[in-house]
Amino acid sequence: MKRYVILTPLLALALISFAEDKPKAEAPKEAEKKEQPVMKVEKSDEDWRKMLTEEQFLVTRKAATERPHGAEYEKFNAQGEGTYYCVCCGSELFTSKEKFHSGCGWPSFYDQSKAKNITEKRDVSAGMVRVEVVCKVCDAHLGHVFEGEGFKTPTDRRYCINGVAMTFVEKGGKPPVPQGKAEKKEGEK
Ligand SMILES: [Zn+2]
Repeated sequence: MKRYVILTPLLALALISFAEDKPKAEAPKEAEKKEQPVMKVEKSDEDWRKMLTEEQFLVTRKAATERPHGAEYEKFNAQGEGTYYCVCCGSELFTSKEKFHSGCGWPSFYDQSKAKNITEKRDVSAGMVRVEVVCKVCDAHLGHVFEGEGFKTPTDRRYCINGVAMTFVEKGGKPPVPQGKAEKKEGEK
């Protein structure tokens, strides 16, 4: 009888400590919440061709590179304050705040805009190891990013971007309608 009385509180203690351990095991889930799911825009080559020029299609969908110091670069150099959007899906990519003159012949930015719609990918094509930058929403090829070249910018990174991959909208102008949303028709779920 006595032994039974002594054991019971011990058993109760063991159960309490077991219950306390449980919430701790679930704690790492907080970190997973930060990554927001991206609403992807996917189209066939045929559909992309319908809405893009041949050069825009080859650059964004087939990872071609526009020629340096071309017409798009001249336009870029003349542009003032504004925002740069993905020519395929209308997602915000850069703003004029991150633009700088690198002299490389392609539009250059030292960082992406706060919208963070750009993803980096390792690219081993053309016998080089480079970091390709693509639109997070529609996977459009935009160009490459290089770092540590000694540019006196806040990041010392150079986003070397094809001008044809972007749509420029002047400050105060109307931004393009994002493709993902534009495709949804009224009444559609
Ligand atoms: Zn895009």
